[in-house]
Amino acid sequence: MGKPFHIQGQTISAGEHAQVALNIYKLPTHTLIEIPVFIFNGKEDGPTVLFLAGMHGDEINGIEVVRSLIMREDVKKLRRGCVVAIPLINIVSFLYGTRDLPDGRDLNRCFPGSKNGSLGSRIAHDLMETIIPQIDFGIDFHTGGAKISNYPQIRCVFSDSKNQVLARIFGAPLVLNAPFRDNTLRQSASKLGKKILVFEGGESHRFDPYSVEEGLNGCLRVLNKFRMIPQGAPKNKTVFLGKTTWVRAKSSGLFHAFKKYGSKVRKDEKIGMICDPYGDVEHELYAPAKGYIVGLNNQPVVNQGDALVHIGTE
Ligand SMILES: [Zn+2]
Repeated sequence: MGKPFHIQGQTISAGEHAQVALNIYKLPTHTLIEIPVFIFNGKEDGPTVLFLAGMHGDEINGIEVVRSLIMREDVKKLRRGCVVAIPLINIVSFLYGTRDLPDGRDLNRCFPGSKNGSLGSRIAHDLMETIIPQIDFGIDFHTGGAKISNYPQIRCVFSDSKNQVLARIFGAPLVLNAPFRDNTLRQSASKLGKKILVFEGGESHRFDPYSVEEGLNGCLRVLNKFRMIPQGAPKNKTVFLGKTTWVRAKSSGLFHAFKKYGSKVRKDEKIGMICDPYGDVEHELYAPAKGYIVGLNNQPVVNQGDALVHIGTE
C-alpha cells in the first residue's frame, strides 16, 4: 500500500489524484493567486518524485514538459509511488512575461524562504515546508536565457554519486557538472537530503520542441525505471561534461555562429565570427577545448564581452 501525501490539510491517499493549491497569495490588487499542485498517488508504495517548472516566468519549455506529463494516461494511472507536479510555480512572473518577480527578486534565490518574507520568499517557504520533506527526489525544469539556447541538459553536482545515477536514468543528451548556487531550490533541498536535478533546454519565451521532447522523455525514463509507469522512452547516448567555459565577444559587432547547439567541436576549431556592419571581418572565434556546444547565443548584435558560445568538456 502506498503512502498518503499531505498538503494544505488534505490527505491524498494511495490510488488517489488531486489538484491542490500550494497556497493562496494576494497581489497588490487583492487578486488572489493560487499555485496548482497536481498529485498522482499510485496504489503501491514507491518513490515520491517532484516535477516542477516555471521557476522563472519566461521559461516556457519546462512548463510545457510538465504540462505534457500530467496529461498522460500512464501518469494518471500511476502503478506505484507518487508524482507531484507543479507546471508553473512562478505564476506572477509568467503573467508579466518576465524571469523575475515584480519586485526584482529571482524566485530561485529566495530559498529556503520565510513565512513572513516577500512573495518569492513565501512561495519558497511553502514549497520547502509542504512538498520537499515528502519527496525522494525531483527535477526542476528550466529554459535558457534571453537569446541563449541551451541544448537539452541536466545540471547537477557530479561529486554526489546519487545525482550521477539519477542523471543517467533521466538520460538527457548532456549532463553538466554545476556547483550549488546559494539560496536555490537545489541547494536548499540538498540540505534536507533531497536530490533536485535541474533540466535546461531551449531559450526563454520560445518553444523548442526538441528540448520539450527530451525533457518529457527524461521524465518517462525516470518513472519507468522506478516501475511507476509500464513504458519509458528510448535510450539516449548521454555525455557527462565536467567543466564548461564561455567563449565571449572580443569586440562588438554582428555575431555569426558556424555551429549549432549540441555540436561536437575540436580544440581550435573555428566556431564563429564577429564582423562590423560595413563588410570587414573583425575577428574569428575558436573553440578553446574539445567538447560540445551546450549553449549558444542567438542574438546577432553583440557587445564586447557578451557570452556567445558555452562549451562543455568531458
Ligand atoms: Zn530558469
